[in-house]
Order: sequence, then structure tokens, then C-alpha cells
Amino acid sequence: MSLLQDLRTARRRFSVEFSPAHDETTAQRQWRAVRRLEQLGPVFASVTYGAGGGSREGTVELATRIARQTTVRPVAHLTAVGQPAAQLAGVVDDLLAGGVRDVLALRGDPHGDPHAPWEPHPQGFEHADQLVRLALDRGAEGVGVAAFPLGHPESPDLDTDLRHLLGKFRAGAGFAIAQLTFDVEDFLRLRDRLAAAGCGVPVVPGLLPVTSPRVLEVTRRLTSGHEPSWLHRRLDPFLDDRGAFREEGVRVAVEDGRRLLAEGVEVLHLYSLNAASNVETLVAELGLAAPRERDVPDGPDGPDGSCRSRVVP
Ligand code: FAD
Repeated sequence: MSLLQDLRTARRRFSVEFSPAHDETTAQRQWRAVRRLEQLGPVFASVTYGAGGGSREGTVELATRIARQTTVRPVAHLTAVGQPAAQLAGVVDDLLAGGVRDVLALRGDPHGDPHAPWEPHPQGFEHADQLVRLALDRGAEGVGVAAFPLGHPESPDLDTDLRHLLGKFRAGAGFAIAQLTFDVEDFLRLRDRLAAAGCGVPVVPGLLPVTSPRVLEVTRRLTSGHEPSWLHRRLDPFLDDRGAFREEGVRVAVEDGRRLLAEGVEVLHLYSLNAASNVETLVAELGLAAPRERDVPDGPDGPDGSCRSRVVP
């Protein structure tokens, strides 16, 4: 079954994200995590690209290793940062040669200062939709894109942001992974906007248990600082107790996951931070393991769940 078919028919499943390791100790821990999480049957394992200082070669290497040595389907992130189109084509070719059939096509952010104005490579791409087309032209099977529940920081408003997301689907992207937010409602409103535009492409929400003040900081960076006061009321009492902080952070994530599942979300994208235990806890608490064969229902927009032929705002 292809990734896109799997995403359209999945019931209560998870995907998981890894980042290329910087050192041998992390690489070994990460690989143990990959093998442990393999037992739980993730829909896919995504591998970030150039984010947080990880190397591009590291992405190709880890995604290829997952493809060759495990039963897990890797999805390699790919960004257009600082690379001409020809070089990006070469990376897609390397991934395909390594058995990695699916990619997440991203624009990326400027190296050094992610908030600096975006400068495309002179022979490269301005936006992710161009990378979607390139990946499909080279033979990638499933191409996903990023979605932003609160709107991408550079978008002037949510309507414009939605229009560009729909443009990425029209370019051929078959799924999206939503940026983390602190509030499940943000994701649900994005889903409403897509439904109102007649779009049934699967969008997977991200879930990262805030298990330490450091993870809170990472999430804050990703969400442009929009953190709700209720989260502080939940976590602040445990600032001096690492174990209790972690437990409360996991409890919050489990509650968020339950809410998403109750709202009909079928696949949750879990951030591993290169370790297995928090993901295993969430999978167990939310019942996301043990895939079963089921009938293939039609998506809200027809059998392929597409929105490419619809009129968009
Ligand atoms: P785009 O889709 O190009 O959007 C960027 C901005 O341009 C938005 O404001 C959008 O509305 C607008 N826009 C889009 N298309 C058009 C168009 N055709 N014409 C005019 N405007 C347009 N970064 C990494 O470096 N490595 C990673 O591995 C990584 N993984 C990520 C995973 C997820 C799930 C997410 C949500 C983000 C990830 N990022 C990663 C960060 C991402 O690269 C940045 O957020 C980047 O700023 C936006 O990327 P994009 O693909 O959404 O860009």
C-alpha cells in the first residue's frame, strides 16, 4: 500500500519524526528508538533536513537506513535552502536510489537566522510548491508539505496562507504535516478551513509532549510564542521537579491526543526527539499501535481525497 493510501485509510495510527544525529551516542540511541517504535507500526517515520543544524547527508543516510533495514516507511524532509534545483534533483535521486519513495517538500528558512528575510538560491526555488513538482517529476511517490494552523509567520492573513497551502496540493502534494501548536483548537480550525475549501487531503497534526522546560522552549520557537496561560498553570508548579514536570507534560499531550481522536483525526505525528519512551507512552495511552486491515472508505471529497479540481478561495 502506498503512503497516500495508508494515510487515507489509517484508523488511530501514528507517525514519528526523527532528526539526523550529531554524534555517535545519539545515533545509537536514535537507532534503538527506530527499532523499538517499528514494533508499534507507525504509518511513516519522517527525517528532518538541515533543521537544528543536522546535515543533509545525515537525512539521506538515516532515511535510507530506515528504508533498507526496517519495515518502517521513511519520509525524508527536503528544503530548498541554499541549493540550486539541479542539486535538489540529485538529492531526490539519491533518496529514491536508497529506497526512500516519499518526501516532505519544504521551502526551509535562511541558515543562521531563521527569521531573516527569505532569499531563494538564484537557480533554486522560491516556494515549496516548486519542490513538490520537482520531487514528483523525479519519481517520488508520495509528496507531503507543511501546513500552519496559525498561518505561516510570513503570511499576511489566514486566507492567503490557505490559498498557498491549496496551491501546494494543486502542485501534487498528497498530504501535509501541521506545525505544532499548543492548542488543539488551532489544528481543528485549520481543518475547518480546508473542509470549507472542499479539500480532503490528509493533514496530520503534530504532537510533542512538553516534558521539560527545554522542550517548552523548542515548542515556543516553533509556534512563534503563542502559548496559552492554561499550560503554564499546568506545568509551572513542577518547574523544580523534573519527573513530575515530565509526567504532567505527557498527561497534557495524552489529553490533546484524545481530543484530536475524538474529533475524528486518525493519524497523529509524534515528535520523538530521537528517543522512544515518550512516543511509546503516547501510543499506549492513545491506542495508536497494532494496525489492522480495514475497508477503504471514500474520503470526504471522493475516493482519492483530493482537492485539486475544486474551486479554491
Ligand atoms: P512555503 O510553502 O514556500 O511557504 C512559505 C511562505 O510563502 C508562506 O507564508 C506561504 O503562505 C507563502 N507561499 C507559499 N507558496 C507561495 C506561492 N506560490 N506564492 C507566494 N507565496 C507563497 N525546516 C527545515 O529546515 N527542515 C525541516 O526538516 C523542516 N521540517 C518541517 C516540518 C514541518 C511539519 C513544518 C510545519 C515545518 C518544517 N520546517 C523545516 C520549517 C519550514 O521549512 C519553515 O516553516 C519555512 O518557513 C516554510 O516552509 P514551507 O514549506 O511551508 O514554505
